[in-house]
Order: sequence, then C-alpha cells, then structure tokens
Amino acid sequence: MTPPVGRFAPTPSGRMHLGNVFAALIAWLSVKSWGGSLLLRMEDLDTQRTSPELGEVLRQDLLWLGLPWDEETPPQSRRTAAYEAAFGKLQDRGLLYPCYCTRSQLHSVNAPHQSDGTYVYPGTCRGLSDRERAAFQRKPAWRLLVPDREYRVADLCQGEYVQNLSSGCGDFVVRRADGVFVYQLAVTVDDGDFGVTQVVRGVDLLGSAPRQMYLQDLLGYAHPEYGHVPLLTARDGRRLSKRDKDLDLGRLRLTHRPEALVGWLAWQAGLLERRQDISPRELAEEFSWEKLKKQEICVDLADLLG
Ligand code: GLU
Repeated sequence: MTPPVGRFAPTPSGRMHLGNVFAALIAWLSVKSWGGSLLLRMEDLDTQRTSPELGEVLRQDLLWLGLPWDEETPPQSRRTAAYEAAFGKLQDRGLLYPCYCTRSQLHSVNAPHQSDGTYVYPGTCRGLSDRERAAFQRKPAWRLLVPDREYRVADLCQGEYVQNLSSGCGDFVVRRADGVFVYQLAVTVDDGDFGVTQVVRGVDLLGSAPRQMYLQDLLGYAHPEYGHVPLLTARDGRRLSKRDKDLDLGRLRLTHRPEALVGWLAWQAGLLERRQDISPRELAEEFSWEKLKKQEICVDLADLLG
C-alpha cells in the first residue's frame, strides 16, 4: 500500500481544546502507523475570527503535544486564485447559479430540517429568469447544482455512510455574496492540489464528505479515504468546544505533561487498556482503527483535572 498523505486543517480562531487535540492525534497516528506523512493547513477563510498569531500558537501546541507535521501548505487566505480557478471551471460547465435567498428565507418552514441542523435547499433560485435576477439589485451567493445521486463514504471509523445529494443536501453554496469562497470548495481544492489521500477529522463533518466527493469528481481529484472520529462530550452530555476555556491547551499545558494528556485521551478513546503516560510516537506502534471507539466519547473530566 502507498503510504497515506494526511492533513490536519485547524481553524486558527482560538486555543485548541481537548476535542481538537483528539482529532489531531488520531489524524497523526493514522498516517504515521502506516508510514505516511501529515500536512498542516490553516483554515483562515474567516478573516474576522482567525489570526496569524493564533496560527502560531496552534503550531506551538502541536509541537508541544509531540505531533510534528511534515509540511505546511499555504493558508486558505492565500489560496484565492486556486479557488477562483475551480469556481470558473464549475461556472463554465453551467453548474452554478446565483442565489438571492436571505437567511430568514432559508430557515423558513418549507425547508425541511435535517437531524444535524442543516436544511435541504429547496431550489428556490434555480429557475430564475435573467429579468428576475436583475430585479434583486444585490450581489448573489453562488450555488452548485447537485445530481440525484447517492454518495457512499466507506469511513475508517463510522463504517458506511450514504447520502443522496439531492434529497439529503440540495444545491449548496460555493461562494458567498461577499465573494468569499466557502469551506466545501476550499477544502476540496486544497486537499486535491496537495495530494491528500486520507482525511481524518471530527464526525461533525461526516455529512460534508458527500459534497466534497462530488466536488472532487467535478474538479478531477481522486476521492481520499475518510475517517471521522467521535466527538468528546462531558458527563452532562455537552459537547466540548472552544468555549470551554478550562479545557483548552492554555489551561491544560499549565498542569499536564504532553505524555499524560495523550495517554489519558488514548485511554478514554479505547486505544489503551489503562491510563498511562505515552508519546504519540510510541502510541503509533499500537494504533488501529478497530480499537478506537466509534460512538461519542464521554470523558471523565474530573478524573483529568482532579
Ligand atoms: N477547519 C475545520 C475545523 O477546524 C476542519 C476542516 C476539515 O478537517 O475538513 O473544524
């Protein structure tokens, strides 16, 4: 087997919390256990929420954890020309149309909501005439037409996940009205251009994989292998997020050694039978996707922090 090329693609909008650390750890272990390499990419499309300084803190945190990357590819803020070219290809093929729907229209009753909180776009702006388009007098977002086709993800962690793009998602936005390219397009072009063959990230992004696979087909990229890791939750069921300051690395680095944190996470995730200090390098020798828990991982924070 050719060694995989994985990637870790954080959004530098705050300090990493335990859930981010977990996703980074598994992405790293998965490629390293197969002798592959890992790319690092800053996903800073949202310039309001992200900053180069936070990107630098992220790099330092990854190094502290013992998760060095093999190469850093350009941040998304410097990749506009590549996204523009991909957008042009889709436009030339007649696959894009302008959408004038407002946020409140999109959340209206006739848009059926999915269990994950997203909604299926009902195609409101698909058939507008030029005259109707001109009447809006504002800049549109751009949507990609999707086919009535099922995409199958053979996920390393979640098993098979199937989504029909038409009934499960609908035509989706690839460029916002303010001109900013959206995550789905940017991530597909970046992973494709830099030869990523294995995408490991949180299960909250599993529903995005079919859209990205469709974009890969349209833009001439191969499908990578996917592994969507479970989310970490606290005992009370709440999902850990960047809001939990007590669980970010700014706090945890003060009280824990990296091997202790890595060992504790690996134990909670089913990779180790007992709690022990261990480095990612040592853990890579024991890593297997079979051992990793598939369901939400409810972590005992009192045990970590106590
Ligand atoms: N930038 C995304 C995040 O920080 C991850 C995107 C991806 O891995 O595809 O959640």
